[in-house]
Amino acid sequence: ALMITDDCISCGACVSECPNNAISEGDLIYEINPDRCTECVGFFDEPQCVEVCPVDAIIPDSDHSENHDELLAKKKQLHGE
Ligand code: SF4
Repeated sequence: ALMITDDCISCGACVSECPNNAISEGDLIYEINPDRCTECVGFFDEPQCVEVCPVDAIIPDSDHSENHDELLAKKKQLHGE
């Protein structure tokens, strides 16, 4: 999964780009639900939130590191085949 750092300026641009509805507004900054983040595997070649974030605040979450197969399995679990 990916995570949002303290660099987030809460612009909200990433929310609608996520195909998994994994991003929401937190108390201070926006947050990614790691249970829903597939890093856009199954949808796009690149994570769409990373593409749109104006301050490069979205990075790999080292506490939720997954390989391609695991991310694809999560995508199928969330959306079906
Ligand atoms: Fe924060 Fe970047 Fe998302 Fe904007 S696009 S809300 S700055 S993480």
